[in-house]
Amino acid sequence: TQFTDLGLAKPLLKALADKGYTTPTPIQAQAIPTVMTGRDLLGIAQTGTGKTAAFALPILHRLAEDRKPAPRRGFRCLVLSPTRELATQIADSFRDYGKHMGLTVATVFGGVKYGPQMKALAAGVDVVVATPGRLMDHLGEKSAHLNGVEIFVLDEADQMLDLGFVVPIRKIASQLPKERQNLFFSATMPSEIGKLAGELLKNPAQVSI
Ligand code: AMP
Repeated sequence: TQFTDLGLAKPLLKALADKGYTTPTPIQAQAIPTVMTGRDLLGIAQTGTGKTAAFALPILHRLAEDRKPAPRRGFRCLVLSPTRELATQIADSFRDYGKHMGLTVATVFGGVKYGPQMKALAAGVDVVVATPGRLMDHLGEKSAHLNGVEIFVLDEADQMLDLGFVVPIRKIASQLPKERQNLFFSATMPSEIGKLAGELLKNPAQVSI
């Protein structure tokens, strides 16, 4: 399989060609067609496997096929990440793959000023990549809301558990619209993470590598 066989939107194929990527990695070949259909996904995968593009590309495809303005202080896709470093990398991937489709991406994490994040959120963005603690702060301050989220991604769920983020994740999930697509990634499946996946996902397809 090549990327050109997957039916991805033109601007995405252009971005992939710019990067010189022609062949999907195994997790991409498994995940991309499934996520494009709108189905929930449970992925067991480590970093370094091409996991980020495995969710970023089909999400961008769905956003490209259904263009609409992002809601004020809201966003269409929420990605939760355990650390600011990973959040930054994920956001950079969305910007890079989405560079030919006029996409807006914002990051939300702790250890930096609120002002620039509030300003970015106020305008409405397509994709927000956030760590759970700082996103909770913005929800409390009403500088962000989750009403417009169509796609929810939880990345590195086992790391989230280690960092004590399961309670904020449940609080965030409880504010998401009921009708949404969920993607859940973890390198390992300890029982608490299996339980969380069971709560968040609806009839997920499972991929593992
Ligand atoms: P990740 O597992 O998402 O951290 O990706 C690991 C690295 O592989 C990143 O530097 C990606 O840019 C790169 N990568 C992802 N998908 C592909 C692909 N299909 N072909 C070549 N490199 C890729």
